Amino acid sequence: MSKAAQSVCKMCRRENTKLFLKAERCFTDKCSFERRPYPPGQHGQARLKFSEFALQLREKQKLKRYYGLQEKNFKRFFSIAEKSTGNTGESFLSLLERRLDSVVHAIGGGASRRHAKQLISHGHVLVNGRSVNVSSFIVKQGDVISISQASLEIPTVQLGLASSQRKEAPGWLEIDKAKATATVRALPQRSDVSVPVEERLVVEFYSR
Ligand code: SF4
Repeated sequence: MSKAAQSVCKMCRRENTKLFLKAERCFTDKCSFERRPYPPGQHGQARLKFSEFALQLREKQKLKRYYGLQEKNFKRFFSIAEKSTGNTGESFLSLLERRLDSVVHAIGGGASRRHAKQLISHGHVLVNGRSVNVSSFIVKQGDVISISQASLEIPTVQLGLASSQRKEAPGWLEIDKAKATATVRALPQRSDVSVPVEERLVVEFYSR
């Protein structure tokens, strides 16, 4: 396994869950977490007792890594969620799901979330027929997201579309895998978010 693949896979082992950061590998027996489901390092297999702060930190890191965000961007989205009415944790998850890179990843436009971001920044993604090259763009109800026709020939796009066939489409999106498009039929609810996270701990982390 390459060093890059190892370091990405270490994140899953550190967070004690599959974050699906690689493409096909995540669904095969080559998955590092399947082989070694314990944190990396000398004390990885030791039974450690976590403080409340450590639990909050780990949950925050897990969510940040799942969506592939830097701390500054992640916190910016949290601040937006804090200002919304309703449950802050659920609003935060909903916002993260509504990011354009999350939608492109759900369509299968990128073999991984990182590839989805690259596709967007290179201008291969359209929202309502117009090119949008900002991964943090927030989609709204009724938007139609598509991969440009020319991009469907790119090998990583084809790989992503193939691997997306085995994933269940989120209920808030109507995905046409043959055309590589998604329509936002409703805003995502907590039950639409599949990442195994206790968002309450993330809220507590930022509320200290
Ligand atoms: Fe690596 Fe994917 Fe397995 Fe995570 S889920 S350890 S990224 S192969």
